[in-house]
Amino acid sequence: MDLENTERAFAMKSDSDLRQAHGLFSLIAFPWLIRLGSVVLPFLLKLHIPIAPLLKATLFKHFCAGTGKKESLQLVERLSKFKVSSYVHYATEAILKEKGMDASLERTLETFSFSKNSTDLPFVVFKPTSLGRMELFEKIGQQKPLSPPEQQEWKRVVGRFEKCCEAAEKLSVNILIDAEESWLQDAIDQEVLMLMRGYNKSVARVHTTVQMYRKDRLAYIELLIALAKQENFKIGIKLVRGAYIDKENKYAQSHGIPSAICPNKNAADENFNKGLDLILTHLDTISLFLGTHNEDSVKRVVAFVEKNKLSKQHPHLWFSQLYGMSDNITFNLAEAGFQTVKYLPFGPVREVVPYLIRRAEENTSVTGHSAREIALIKKELKRRKALTAAQES
Ligand SMILES: Cc1cc2nc3c(=O)[nH]c(=O)nc-3n(C[C@H](O)[C@H](O)[C@H](O)COP(=O)(O)OP(=O)(O)OC[C@H]3O[C@@H](n4cnc5c(N)ncnc54)[C@H](O)[C@@H]3O)c2cc1C
Repeated sequence: MDLENTERAFAMKSDSDLRQAHGLFSLIAFPWLIRLGSVVLPFLLKLHIPIAPLLKATLFKHFCAGTGKKESLQLVERLSKFKVSSYVHYATEAILKEKGMDASLERTLETFSFSKNSTDLPFVVFKPTSLGRMELFEKIGQQKPLSPPEQQEWKRVVGRFEKCCEAAEKLSVNILIDAEESWLQDAIDQEVLMLMRGYNKSVARVHTTVQMYRKDRLAYIELLIALAKQENFKIGIKLVRGAYIDKENKYAQSHGIPSAICPNKNAADENFNKGLDLILTHLDTISLFLGTHNEDSVKRVVAFVEKNKLSKQHPHLWFSQLYGMSDNITFNLAEAGFQTVKYLPFGPVREVVPYLIRRAEENTSVTGHSAREIALIKKELKRRKALTAAQES
């Protein structure tokens, strides 16, 4: 399998798409620009300055499937032609008031229903803080007693989680539950474990998300394996490095506690590899959904599959990347016969701005991903130019 094959990686993109993507990644490589954008964009939108069309033609076009169901499903169909499956997500972030949570649940369930007539959407997803208040997750995590109204509120949150899992079960699709900041995660873990016990008796229907940049997560995977063996259920794990490093470190500082995060990138990578190896040696019990843009991590799994002569279509082995990132991984893995799933966020441009800002932040020159994207795009444009020249001569 060749992750450098750009012909396959960008088969869906026209020359003009590639040139636009090149421009976009070149711009967002500047951290100061992204820092400025993350403050200015929400402000401009609040003032109703009409910047949505500009966003739609740039960041949105590159990182989002569309504004609604129709565009999203068209993209799902185009991806399936390259053997790439999808999962779609209405990508609004943190809803603060309880009032919005029921509406959010409805929207989530509606998104799940896209899977009804499609085998190209084998997973659905929800973000816990779209179904429950952050303060409540935090209080439960700190094991503080809940007031009677809070107890009722938590029951409603648990009910919303349950409804999502019931819907996934009915549709026979697997469900991913996103991971959040560590101080919210204990309450989420507690609930998701209950759901895995209930729904994962014969298949790994429910997938928790484990962030390996956290120091304590290897022990957590070990605990899950022990419980699953003892109580006879399957585990679903979306394995990621983790997205909230700045927030985590700030939280630890402001609360005078040690950070939950590994002290540096090397330590996080080492922890990730240990978690990954542990899961790979327990694929009978654990379904692995590997969410990463790190090529070494992907190669590690591929090497394991080859060495142990596992099927590339092992039902407990899935790879996933975000739409607009690392197409070289997604499309080359799919072509080689592995099960790959693209994450497709959608929604009205104004509502997905926080998601777009996070993607831009992830691609600055500090975090380093854009340089790789730019190099691959340049390589493909050069290849196409040489091909045209050869055909003309
Ligand atoms: C399909 C998919 C689903 C995802 N779902 C979630 C989710 O539910 N929750 C979530 O939190 N994230 C999620 N992410 C994002 C993910 O956690 C990473 O932030 C992102 O993928 C970058 O990590 P990487 O493995 O792709 O690549 P890399 O570029 O190799 O790693 C970057 C990551 O390394 C870690 N890191 C970087 N510097 C340091 C440092 N100094 N110290 C310690 N660690 C460091 C951080 O986690 C950083 O994001 C998801 C990603 C994908 C692809």
